Amino acid sequence: MTELAFENTMITALDGLTVPWQGAPAPAPRVLVSNDALAQTLGLDPAALRSDDGAAILSGAHAPAGSTPVAMAYSGHQFGGFVPLLGDGRALLLGELRGDDGALVDLHLKGSGPTPFSRGGDGRAVVGPMLREYLISEAMYALGIPTTRALAVALTGEDVLREGPQPGAVLARIASSHLRVGTFEFASRREGLVQPLADYAISRHYPHLSDLPNDEKYLAFFEAVVEAQASLVARWMLVGFVHGVMNTDNTTISGETIDYGPCAFLDSYDPAAVFSSIDHGGRYAYGNQPAILGWNLARFGETLLPLVSSVPDDAITALTKVLDGYGARYRRHYMTGMAAKLGLSGVDQALVDDLLTLLRDHRADWTLTFRALADHLRGDFGPLESILPRDAVEPWLARWLAATGDDPVAVADAMDQVNPLYIPRNHQVDAALTAATLGDLDPFERLLDAVTHPFDRSEEWAHYAEPAPRGFLDGFQT
Ligand code: AMP
Ligand code: MG
Ligand code: MG
Repeated sequence: MTELAFENTMITALDGLTVPWQGAPAPAPRVLVSNDALAQTLGLDPAALRSDDGAAILSGAHAPAGSTPVAMAYSGHQFGGFVPLLGDGRALLLGELRGDDGALVDLHLKGSGPTPFSRGGDGRAVVGPMLREYLISEAMYALGIPTTRALAVALTGEDVLREGPQPGAVLARIASSHLRVGTFEFASRREGLVQPLADYAISRHYPHLSDLPNDEKYLAFFEAVVEAQASLVARWMLVGFVHGVMNTDNTTISGETIDYGPCAFLDSYDPAAVFSSIDHGGRYAYGNQPAILGWNLARFGETLLPLVSSVPDDAITALTKVLDGYGARYRRHYMTGMAAKLGLSGVDQALVDDLLTLLRDHRADWTLTFRALADHLRGDFGPLESILPRDAVEPWLARWLAATGDDPVAVADAMDQVNPLYIPRNHQVDAALTAATLGDLDPFERLLDAVTHPFDRSEEWAHYAEPAPRGFLDGFQT
């Protein structure tokens, strides 16, 4: 493979955050899926990525020329409890590449073997979960939601013991960076690290703030992250995405979605929906996500206290004021998004709240409801009637119809531009990953095709818009 033009701006700018490391040997590396379109935006040759040399690199076994692989340190609050040292326990940052838009991105491998941060873990990953991250992150990207992206999944040729032996695999992930709230929590507990980290994060993600005087810059940085994350979590809520593990180490500084573990999309609307088998208390339930993000942002703000002012009381007041603005920012993003989903130029809280109550009471499918409302505007009443009983929805429908204006078909068409038809439905994802683990990649490829074209209706994909079979959803966990 030709030499990649790696940059190493982070390790050059910051001492004490990374450990030089290398991936574990892989007996028989092979690329299972790769993302040609994404590769091309990074100046990577898709065929070379799939070659033996490419597979050796993507499995982590062989460090590409010009790369300086490192494992990153971070801390984090996991389910509310502080863990001083987490870090890349099964991942490596190979280096940074420049996309065709000029922006710097990280090329990161997940599942590449143990590191000094493995804490008793095996450093490995298996094919099902890595394909799951590939599929869901690419679906999120196609939905227009800021996210890390998937470049490839490579098999290592080695079995890894989970519940029984499973094919070992490595995900190659592209992110605008891997800086997390947890990175700041780590840095703020060390001498002289948090300011260079903040300066680096500003230069990478919020460069328009770089030239502000220090007494404004770090507060503005906090505000920029609060805004980016408020917008992000609103988009999750609008599309029915449940992250599953909103620990502070899984909350980015860039405002991208990161770390697709036990995540899922809602089938029926339920604020209490939890899919993660490790989230016993429902801390990260669908409806809790905005509040949890606020909590994570408070942890982030705390790390910036020493940078915001030399007078601690002032710093607390200033940061708290920004944090207090989070709720309003979130609601603005969410309500603007709901207005678009409902085909309205503005929307009142009561109309949204009453719809949500209806959807919850009738366990209505979140995704299909908005498509069915658009169909209703076109005079096709069947889809909505199959989701919500007519007498229950009638009063709400009358209020909504009165607000939609006098060109219903145009409104319906606009709604279809923002309301996806195909999301990675849990039963479909499950079936595709089960087949892939047994060696049949076909269902995965077809599902990937549909969910990366979420708004394009096609007969071929009709079954991807079907709700889960009855019984599937009860007790479904990822
Ligand atoms: P996550 O829940 O995926 O955000 O991961 C939390 C922490 O656990 C991170 O520090 C990971 O690197 C670490 N981790 C997860 N799985 C493994 C594994 N199989 N081996 C070593 N570390 C792991
Ligand atoms: Mg993580
Ligand atoms: Mg994870």
